[in-house]
Amino acid sequence: MDQQPPPFEPSAAAASALPVLRAVAETLDSLGIGTCVFDEADRALVWNRTFLKLFPEHAAHIHVGEPYQANLRRFYQNRLAAGELAAMERYVADGLARHRNQQRPFAFEHLGVRLWAASLPLPKVGRIRIWQVRTPIAGPQGAQILSALGTTPIQDDALFEHVADGVMVTGTDDRIDWVNQSFVLMYDLPDREAARGQQFEWAYRAAWQGQITDGGVLFEAGLATLADSMGFVGAPFELPLPRDRWSRVIAQRSPDGKGYFAHVDISALKHQQRLLQAAERRARESEAILKEKSTLLEATLQRMEQGVLMVSAERVVEVCNRRARELLDLPQELMERRPTVDEVFAYQEASGEFAHTPPQTLSLVRAVDGLHVPHGYDRKRPNGRVIEVRSVPVEGGGMLRTYTDITERRLAEERIRHVASHDGLTSLVNREAFLESLASTAQTARSLGVGFAVHFIDIDRFKPINDSFGHAVGDKVLALLAERMRRIARDGDLVARMGGDEFAVLQYPVEQRDRALGLAYRLLEGISQAMEIESHSLQVGASIGIALYPEAGGDADTLLRNADAAMYAAKAAGRDCVQVYDSGTELDPDPD
Ligand code: GH3
Ligand code: MG
Repeated sequence: MDQQPPPFEPSAAAASALPVLRAVAETLDSLGIGTCVFDEADRALVWNRTFLKLFPEHAAHIHVGEPYQANLRRFYQNRLAAGELAAMERYVADGLARHRNQQRPFAFEHLGVRLWAASLPLPKVGRIRIWQVRTPIAGPQGAQILSALGTTPIQDDALFEHVADGVMVTGTDDRIDWVNQSFVLMYDLPDREAARGQQFEWAYRAAWQGQITDGGVLFEAGLATLADSMGFVGAPFELPLPRDRWSRVIAQRSPDGKGYFAHVDISALKHQQRLLQAAERRARESEAILKEKSTLLEATLQRMEQGVLMVSAERVVEVCNRRARELLDLPQELMERRPTVDEVFAYQEASGEFAHTPPQTLSLVRAVDGLHVPHGYDRKRPNGRVIEVRSVPVEGGGMLRTYTDITERRLAEERIRHVASHDGLTSLVNREAFLESLASTAQTARSLGVGFAVHFIDIDRFKPINDSFGHAVGDKVLALLAERMRRIARDGDLVARMGGDEFAVLQYPVEQRDRALGLAYRLLEGISQAMEIESHSLQVGASIGIALYPEAGGDADTLLRNADAAMYAAKAAGRDCVQVYDSGTELDPDPD
């Protein structure tokens, strides 16, 4: 002891931290780490045994409360050359400043041992300094310290032996001096002795021995990388290995020409990289597919024959293709500024779009509810074309509306209906259509309390025309007679061909029996006119039976049957005459 330690009272905070600090110091001892804790006024508080082993100059001198400057002075006393001792106080002042500001660990050499030192502030207590042996340096003093610590100098080999990565040390001739066990495993070598004196390429070839499965593509690539990279010290390179393994080789050359190579197993990394690349590729591909699809969709939308309108939940027209604009004569400027359906509706109403739309359909179109339920109707446009309008609600609100020009379809349907209800030869309605009209006329007449007449007409002596001049001439006769009858009947009357040389006329309304007879005689007269067909002068007559509603029957079938019966009565009466059902008397062919 140089002097009596001055009385020392640590601060309350430091005093209360002391038990913990002592435990920490002891714990660090067990790891061979030296420590010394100083209070806020840089006075020694706690240190451990390792500290005294690393800095034996402090043993028997350091005491609780000793200023750090005293500690430093002792340190430099041993360290500085005689000539430098004059500058001692400057060294001490610098050392103290360093002590207070130290943030990063640093290395230094002391008594032949290389140490790592760290110094960190302890809030409210002061500062803790710790020291750890880094790389031992051979030397008598260092060996002494190390043996005091119970540590033996670590050999390079032993250090690397426990490293997970492969380590290869080469001599100045670039041949392998030493490899660790991880290297042996990584390159599938028989043992580490086999590698000694070889070049690394030998180890790489050994790794692939009997393992080439892909025609040697990877192996050759690896060899090429090796040839390119071995010369560049410090630039890491990657080598493919069998069984989907990879090593990254990092070289370090020491000034004496020795090479230190770390061989890191990066198989897992490579695997992840490949997965990532595949995922990226897939993402790029699906993005491209999506893009292509949406382009296709857009093209389809613009070129399709149907008009398409998409309305959002907010009633905004999001999509209106070219065809929809054309079909509905919607101005492009209006549709391009994303109007609401209500704006479009107002425009259409103002331009007379709904002139032919029945009021109840229009209220459906107008109704807000129309957006939430599927609906459809056919709209006759001001230009005469018929547009089929169909709306379906879209999931999440809004709706999709399609417009199809069905004008031609409508005409075709009309033609089919006409063909189905008319006779091809005479263009008169056929038997079925006549019966339908008859039935509905009977109903109307019943409700209105009016009368009407059914005339049943069979051409007299028609067959001989066929027989004498052929069927074609017969056809022309039938067509001509049909034309005459149509002209004779009024617009409201319906003339039908019932089959063969049988015709019928529905005369509506008929207030008096004489009106029916008048028409029957006009028909008879018209039919009996001479005809010039294919230069044949021909003439026929007709037998006409009349059934009057309601006297001769209340329904279509009865009326037709009775008119037919009256016609037969006319035939029986000698042809070329008119017979009223149930009249029982032959009527004068010429009432005047
Ligand atoms: P009647 O005076 O008793 O009425 O005898 P008719 O010679 O007129 O012969 P009837 O009414 O008994 O028969 C009608 C004939 O009309 C039978 C058939 O050969 C002929 N016929 C039926 N349909 C057609 C047709 O579409 N074209 C032609 N050319 N002849 C038809
Ligand atoms: Mg006949």
